[in-house]
Amino acid sequence: MLDVSAIKKDFPIFDRTVRDGQRLIYLDSGATSQKPNSVIDAESNFYRFNNAAVHRGAHQLAEEATENFENARSIVAEFLGAKSDEIVFTKSATESINLVAYALTEKIKPGDRIVVSEMEHHANLVPWQQLAKRTGAELAWFEVTPEGRLDLNNIEKVITANTAIVALTHQSNVLGTINPLEQIVKRAEAVGAQVLLDACQSVPHMSVDVRKLGVDYLAFSGHKALGPTGVGVLWGKNLESLPPFLFGGSMIENVTMTDATWAPAPKKFEAGVPNMAQAIGLGAALNYLSKVGLASIHAHEIYLAKVLIAGLSDIKGINIFGPKDMELRGGVVSFTLDGIHPHDLGQYLDSKGIAVRTGHHCAWPLARKFKVQATTRASLYLYNELSDVDALLSGIQDAKKFFLER
Ligand SMILES: *Cc1c(COP(=O)(O)O)cnc(C)c1O
Repeated sequence: MLDVSAIKKDFPIFDRTVRDGQRLIYLDSGATSQKPNSVIDAESNFYRFNNAAVHRGAHQLAEEATENFENARSIVAEFLGAKSDEIVFTKSATESINLVAYALTEKIKPGDRIVVSEMEHHANLVPWQQLAKRTGAELAWFEVTPEGRLDLNNIEKVITANTAIVALTHQSNVLGTINPLEQIVKRAEAVGAQVLLDACQSVPHMSVDVRKLGVDYLAFSGHKALGPTGVGVLWGKNLESLPPFLFGGSMIENVTMTDATWAPAPKKFEAGVPNMAQAIGLGAALNYLSKVGLASIHAHEIYLAKVLIAGLSDIKGINIFGPKDMELRGGVVSFTLDGIHPHDLGQYLDSKGIAVRTGHHCAWPLARKFKVQATTRASLYLYNELSDVDALLSGIQDAKKFFLER
């Protein structure tokens, strides 16, 4: 078990109260995580003591800044079981995915297939729709079963011989489903397709090793992994094979008045002065996660999710979207409550100091599939405790009395 009260002491936000002196019950880490002091300090100390443009100046500060920035890259690489030169710092997972989707423009031909799934976040759907439109490729997708799992029954009919890339979420940000990658990667390999993994909801919550997964690209955001906003990661097995996406300083090897050549990856993909303080903050965040231990964090979330799902299942009128068993599942739980709009429920819970998310969670096609406009989502992390789950469950019971029994 995690020592949550010790962990909470590392997160200054839990020192404050919300809504007239109530304890903050933060169940919205799927949208963004809170930050420990070590991350806030790493970012602000960079500005206090080391601030200079990396890879440029001939002075001590520039040297120190470069060393800290490149050290952050090594931390990310080690965290993912990758090599440093396979790590690109972007501004977000959204940018990481767009980078790959743009870079593949010249490689994708009319009649090629791009495969996604019905449970994708817009960030891992819209860039592929646009790539298909630009290239004349065909967009295909895995459907989602009523239980909230990918329907892999017809995997050969979805990942066909003409498939060029499969872009898939590792863990759904709405359903909590963890997708079984082995089967998908095997099929993709058999037809010579690449695989991009949207790991926004997995990298912060469980141990992810890119070599073991066998994928080609992986994207995640710093801010959902205890890190700062404004920094994301793209890992690629063979980044050198992609053309650059943004052009400018730092990414060049040589420039004449009419042409330019590119620096090797990852520099080729990091045009301009990069997000140095944020990358260094992300390094501190991943160090923090490693220190607590990803296996313990995952087990903790599963334990809390199990209690939450059992409690929700006992409330009349609750509909849970996503798997109710704990097999291949994470700590994201979405639900609706008969007779109460999710936004009303969200507002009521907020009045009790409970922060949840309501809406379509940037996965509109999935909401449509389940025939709902919106759901309420509770997403758990290492700083949540059993009392947070209890507070949510009794908050929902109180909301029922407030809205339905007046
Ligand atoms: C949050 C999220 C994204 C987008 O991340 P940004 O930080 O907004 O770029 C993509 N996919 C999933 C599954 C997410 O949860």
